Amino acid sequence: MSIRPADVIERKRNGEELPTDDIRELVLGYGRGEIPDYQLAAFCMAVWFRGLSAAETLAMTEAIIESGETIQLGEAIGRKVVDKHSTGGVGDKTSIAVAPIVAACGVPFGKMSGRGLGHTGGTLDKLESIPGFRVELTLDEFVTQVRDVGVAVIGQTADLVPADKQLYALRDVTATVDSIPLIAASIMSKKIAAGAEAIVLDVKVGDGAFMRTLPEARKLAEAMRELGTRAGREVVCLLTDMDQPLGRAVGNALEIREALETVRGDGPPDFTELVLAAASRLVALSDLGLDEAAARARVEAAISDGSAEDAYRRWISAQGGDPAEDRLPTAPVVRTVKAEQDGVVSRLHALDVGIAALELGAGRRSKGDEIDHSVGLIVVKKRGDHIERGEPIAEVHAADEASADEAARRLRGAYEFGDEAPEASGVVLDVIG
Ligand code: URA
Repeated sequence: MSIRPADVIERKRNGEELPTDDIRELVLGYGRGEIPDYQLAAFCMAVWFRGLSAAETLAMTEAIIESGETIQLGEAIGRKVVDKHSTGGVGDKTSIAVAPIVAACGVPFGKMSGRGLGHTGGTLDKLESIPGFRVELTLDEFVTQVRDVGVAVIGQTADLVPADKQLYALRDVTATVDSIPLIAASIMSKKIAAGAEAIVLDVKVGDGAFMRTLPEARKLAEAMRELGTRAGREVVCLLTDMDQPLGRAVGNALEIREALETVRGDGPPDFTELVLAAASRLVALSDLGLDEAAARARVEAAISDGSAEDAYRRWISAQGGDPAEDRLPTAPVVRTVKAEQDGVVSRLHALDVGIAALELGAGRRSKGDEIDHSVGLIVVKKRGDHIERGEPIAEVHAADEASADEAARRLRGAYEFGDEAPEASGVVLDVIG
């Protein structure tokens, strides 16, 4: 190794711009196990405070990609493959609805997903609430399924971006997740290595997201777009609201049900808006040659004629899962939370809802924790909804009475009420690209 990690950390700590080779050696050395966790943890914290330039972020992304294999998905199946990724939020089951809709439109969809991080749920955990569903396919199985079934969503394999896997786990326990360059490098290394040529990135903004403000989210979106463009990928970023949970369901099996309802055209309005926006953009970016209006019409038709639901069933079955809704696990205790006053919901804090779901067992407090796929919450009333005293505002799905009590208490604290409805805003706040 031609670098001294402590020197590199010190230079970053002092705010210097690092040469590409130093970053490359640091990341690859860490990936090979030659540099210990404590040095990379110190480096990530220095980056958290000092940031990375565009050139440094690119060097980090390229080094993470170089740490493992890459797939040329499009070449392998002879079509342009599309992918989507979210920066993580509460109740975010978008990929589970978007994947079959896009496939039903005739566009190959191949995605590698992650597990929950902190209070945010992960697509893989949600999919694993479907009995029999396998998230661990080999790269060959992944490519074959995208080609033959038109859709596959799998866990990150050990061969792809191994350095990201290690860094991500390290950042999770060292308070260094919410750094724009580190998130950009982590997400884009995965997306580029997994081979899709067109990518829709859903950048969440608000109290339940890593990016709390629109300017911060825009910065992250632009950094990711730049990395994608340099790698020859088409990237569109949707900046979307995460000040309140997305849709109504939060918790693994409950979210699968809501995603399926949305694939059938019966989803909640905000979630449906985001699913339509993301799916239409993916179809417009595909090799079908459709403009945005035609892509939107194709997406709406796939939902209303039932072909999206058929694609969902084909996809789940292809990965060994039972697509029947009544096979999803259900929680033994279901508690209705009622309004204690009249008024309008002025806020519904996504972070508190996410923590309530986590405490019910829907997420992990630490890495090895088991998830209870049956538990979670339904937020019946959302921002802007009128309520009357005694009316149900939410439902708690719990493993036992004590955890239901605790979740109901936290959920009440997540709601703020007022006399007037807050200004209405759509879920898609901005589009970049
Ligand atoms: N999602 C990722 O894949 N990486 C991050 O760093 C944050 C969210």
